[in-house]
Amino acid sequence: MLTQNLGFPRIGAQRELKRACEKFWKGISTLEELQETGRQERLKNWKFQQDSGIDIIPSNDFSFYDQVADHIFMFGAIPSRFNKLSSKLKNIDLYFAMCRGYQKDGFDVTPLEMTKWFDTNYHYLVPEFEKNQQFKLNSNKVIDEFNEALKAGIKTKPVLLGPFSFLKLGKEKSTDFNRLDLIHALLPVYIELIGQMENTGIDCIQIDEPCLSGDLSHPEQQLFRAVLTELFGSFPSIKFILTSYFDGIEKQIEWVKCLPLEVLHLDLVRAPKQLDLFLEKIPKFLTLSLGLVDGRNIWANNLQESLEIIQKTAEKIGTDRIILAPSCSLLHVPYNLENENDETNLPLFVKKKMAFAFQKINELVLLKELASDKPSEQVQKKLKNNTLVFKNWSENPAINNSKVREQVSEVQNKWSEIDRKSDFNERIRKQQKKLNLPPFPTTMIGSLPQTTEVRKMRRNFINGDVSKKKYNEFIEAAIKNAVNWQEEVGIDVLVHGEFERNDMVEFFGEQLEGFARTQNGWVQSYGSRGVKPPIIFGDVFRKTPMTVDISKLAQSFTAKPMKGMLTGPVTILQWSFVRNDQSRKNTTIQLGLVIRDEVLNLEKAGLPIIQIDEPALREGLPIKKENQTDYLNWAVKCFKLCSWGVKDETQIHTHMCYAEFNDIIQSIVDMDADVISIETSRSQMELLDVFSKIRYPNQIGPGVFDIHSPRIPDVNEMTDLLFAASKYLPAKNIWVNPDCGLKTRDWKETKKTIKNMIHAAIRMREAISPQ
Ligand code: GLN
Ligand code: ZN
Repeated sequence: MLTQNLGFPRIGAQRELKRACEKFWKGISTLEELQETGRQERLKNWKFQQDSGIDIIPSNDFSFYDQVADHIFMFGAIPSRFNKLSSKLKNIDLYFAMCRGYQKDGFDVTPLEMTKWFDTNYHYLVPEFEKNQQFKLNSNKVIDEFNEALKAGIKTKPVLLGPFSFLKLGKEKSTDFNRLDLIHALLPVYIELIGQMENTGIDCIQIDEPCLSGDLSHPEQQLFRAVLTELFGSFPSIKFILTSYFDGIEKQIEWVKCLPLEVLHLDLVRAPKQLDLFLEKIPKFLTLSLGLVDGRNIWANNLQESLEIIQKTAEKIGTDRIILAPSCSLLHVPYNLENENDETNLPLFVKKKMAFAFQKINELVLLKELASDKPSEQVQKKLKNNTLVFKNWSENPAINNSKVREQVSEVQNKWSEIDRKSDFNERIRKQQKKLNLPPFPTTMIGSLPQTTEVRKMRRNFINGDVSKKKYNEFIEAAIKNAVNWQEEVGIDVLVHGEFERNDMVEFFGEQLEGFARTQNGWVQSYGSRGVKPPIIFGDVFRKTPMTVDISKLAQSFTAKPMKGMLTGPVTILQWSFVRNDQSRKNTTIQLGLVIRDEVLNLEKAGLPIIQIDEPALREGLPIKKENQTDYLNWAVKCFKLCSWGVKDETQIHTHMCYAEFNDIIQSIVDMDADVISIETSRSQMELLDVFSKIRYPNQIGPGVFDIHSPRIPDVNEMTDLLFAASKYLPAKNIWVNPDCGLKTRDWKETKKTIKNMIHAAIRMREAISPQ
């Protein structure tokens, strides 16, 4: 029995790589310095895994930005808009230009699009394919990193994203071809690369094909099979490890089991049931890699349960044909739990049940020892301790709140009662009577520039250098300024600016019971950007209102309507590390109940409009179609739960940062928010496409400018967008707003852009009189 890892985090335990990249981008460090940091981080990771006793250690799991971007670069699939630039920039500079765009020396080249990696919060760069896309080997990264490890005495297993997933995860630049047909051009380049790898002495390669876990049509299955058969068949002396993750692959078993392959990896955390089928069906030559240690969450492994699975597998196929592994790459968990020592925010009993990447590596080795004939006394003791942690967990009063549990079951018996009292037409009539808004009302999504001053004040307050009183005064002044500016410029529905929030999920996590937080639990989100998700370990409840004082204060500064701003339950769930001892649905209901209390308090405090953001609803969509309906059902219900009992006159808004909801539009309609704001400025086409098919019944604010860029669009550009939208949506339903919060922008840009936005709304009112 062996152990393997599928991938290690790479941003650095203290985010060393993040800092090194950002310095390099700013031009304050050299390429040599950046590369040195990369080398050190790789070496630390390899050494740690070797010292821990992992048998098969990955390489090429490192990346300066994103592993998919590395493959795009390696196979020379750099989009043609970079052609001119590529004669000027070489290697890593061109690579970063592709990832981040390039706006210097007269160039203005947009970066590749980013999108979420399956149902994670990690973003990858989307490969763009042209009709006659050519591929050619363009980088030695894989072999260089292998040699680098070898020099340090570690023979690694390079990781490659497989050719099928590489194409499948990309997109066509025009509609007159199918990107999967490019396989005939791509496969020879993979074969060339692996040939070179073989010549270097590489004898084991991990091929990641995460798309195996998705829905595959029959022709796709056939193509997939042919591609992998040819690829693996071309190198009989290389040991190939084919990995699937994030869901089961039982539907592909009939052809996958016939591949000329040595090891097949299964994600047994997400899809434990598939194991039995594979045990029954796989041929004698195949080794199974059991993905038992959760690579997506921070909970410790239940060793006893894993051991039982290992034993069951050993009885069927023998210990020699078992490899122990994490369920997927450890990229999605933080580095080291040992770096956490703030017992107030991360209670010891919770920490004891947790494991970050370092601990997960140790768990694998421990499992291997425990499964051996004679486990030492020391490891047996560890097993005992672990069993005890799990045994005592569910009885711990700190995670149980019977009142919350009662409420959850009550809600589930009353699902039909949580709808708004009246239908939309009735509600909007009452709301309009109260709010008296002009046609094409203007608003913003919530946050306003988080200036260095705001962030510094918060840091000083947290460090204790600034008193609570002083900090509150500062925030109040910021709100007052923001309100005054909005009144001056003529915004119809105001926001307070969210200056008091670090992050829209962390802010609520910090105030709720059942949540813990870490000091160093960073996970890569994209490029050098990390997130530090809060941890939901127990029943969630609210001790006191979280946003009411500030919203009330903001409303007191103006006679115009102010929006109360909340994060929705699905988004809080999606952007946290979530307990795994109850269903995600139940946890979301608990979150929904908490947000509902907040909504009712805001209503009582006189806020006429409440916005409940759900930007992560789409990314929680399960990978397989068959599981999507159930998710969408409860996700929509949990959103509606937040406005259970709200008066007709109170206007409920929601916000989503994307427009790709072709496939979930019915659920968006079912959410029945009075007003939804969405992203459209980058993907106008997609929006129009959706709304030409379905008539969106309630009010909607198609974002009229892209907040991700410092560009200031003029009045015409925004008016054009609104005109385009008015062809597909009744004019009386259209709001005018940016496509997301403005926290990453500065005040200068914000003031100019919002002024233009208001003018665009005025032009619309003059041009179209809504019926
Ligand atoms: N209200 C939040 C803001 O304006 C929404 C952010 C988001 O959708 N990601 O910042
Ligand atoms: Zn947004």
